[in-house]
Amino acid sequence: MTKALLAALLVAAAAPALSQQAPAPPPVPVPPQIERLRDAALSDDYAWDIVEGLTTEVGPRLAGTEAEARARDWSVRKLRALGFANVRVEPFDMPVWVRGEEKAWITAPFPQPIVVSALGNSGATPPQGIEAELVGFDTIDQLIAAPDAAVRGKIVFVSHAMPRTQDGSGYGVFGRARREGPSIASRKGALAIVVRSIGTDYHRNPHTGVMSFAEGVTPIPAGALPLPDAEQVQRILKRGQPVRMRLVMTPRQIGTRQSGNVIAEVPGRDPNAPMLLVSGHLDSWDLGTGAIDDASGVAIAAASAKRIMDAGRPLRTIRIVWFGAEEPGLFGARAYRAAHGKDPYYAIAESDFGADRIWKVDSRLGKDREAEAKMLQRALNPLGIVPGALDEAEGSDISVLLADGIPGVGLSQDGTHYFDLHHTPDDTLDKVDPEALRQNVAAWTTMLAVLSGGIEPHPNRRKRR
Ligand SMILES: [Zn+2]
Repeated sequence: MTKALLAALLVAAAAPALSQQAPAPPPVPVPPQIERLRDAALSDDYAWDIVEGLTTEVGPRLAGTEAEARARDWSVRKLRALGFANVRVEPFDMPVWVRGEEKAWITAPFPQPIVVSALGNSGATPPQGIEAELVGFDTIDQLIAAPDAAVRGKIVFVSHAMPRTQDGSGYGVFGRARREGPSIASRKGALAIVVRSIGTDYHRNPHTGVMSFAEGVTPIPAGALPLPDAEQVQRILKRGQPVRMRLVMTPRQIGTRQSGNVIAEVPGRDPNAPMLLVSGHLDSWDLGTGAIDDASGVAIAAASAKRIMDAGRPLRTIRIVWFGAEEPGLFGARAYRAAHGKDPYYAIAESDFGADRIWKVDSRLGKDREAEAKMLQRALNPLGIVPGALDEAEGSDISVLLADGIPGVGLSQDGTHYFDLHHTPDDTLDKVDPEALRQNVAAWTTMLAVLSGGIEPHPNRRKRR
């Protein structure tokens, strides 16, 4: 029997079964009001105004510092000026780490300076620094496998091969060098560790980021080298002669300080209806002004809520949360969950992957809300956004709420260039493309409109007509 004949018989056999099934219901059409809100948001200025204002008038906003406190004051003023209700700060305490001096040199066999930045929670060298033999590993697993004797009394260098990807999936795997490397090196008796930055750009910008020493492990100095410097060090090591490094790194733990979450709301018509939560994080690393991480995120969340508020009153309350202290380890997220984890939520979302265009929508609204999830996919389609999973949602701060089973939506930004800027001095306003930012606001406005339960004109405006 030919393959074609077999295929024809199979189709014929399957046909009666198929014809007995009820035809799939036609997709729920996207209401014109939602299409209008989506298209109008493509000329949004609210988000740019927030990103520009926050990065210019506050600048870097390291968690738990005076700068982050100024950012909260700025945020409260801004959110009130935009007309949101219930604008408030919910404070919490956290341990705070601040950067000191940071310098490095290869002292032998080819003496030269090397660019370095401390990782968050890094230990310190004495003020005059340390000098020791440098031992290199191509992967974190090589370091794990190395005998203690190969590392003891030395400075460890860990490289890795994080690729550039659209979805940023390399960060989890290759980020181990930064997150786990320092504890492993310290346990083996290393004096200090430097890692190749968890980044993709070839500028001499180190990528900082948080690490934490495991329980009982002695903190050691832990830094990141920019890619050009990391590859320079690799070449020097490959020459096969003993390599020595001098490192001066003087960050400090300054004890418990206050941080806080900034919250604002668009009150819904039905105060008992489960609400929508849109979010980003207000703190940033200290090297840049945190324009893409995450001034853009807080701006996108607030701008989309503002556009709904301008259009009328949603059935559901929209809560905006600008989390504090995300970067050092989700302190704001955990404080929020302790205070509001049991509040009723219809869906939650966070923007924390830069400011590039959104290309995919994932959601996890539940089996019984599949028609709604699919309408959201169709409503986003004209923005160049492809449908993704119906059982997935993610976000850094909101991960603690998603883990509790709360429904969520994930609007995935293109991350191809995100790790060129992430946690570097280059994370500044000029990297934000206003057109891409508007596409983000349009997508978030669409998402809120679809899930809002319907938006009715403001009663006072109705009376005036
Ligand atoms: Zn972030």
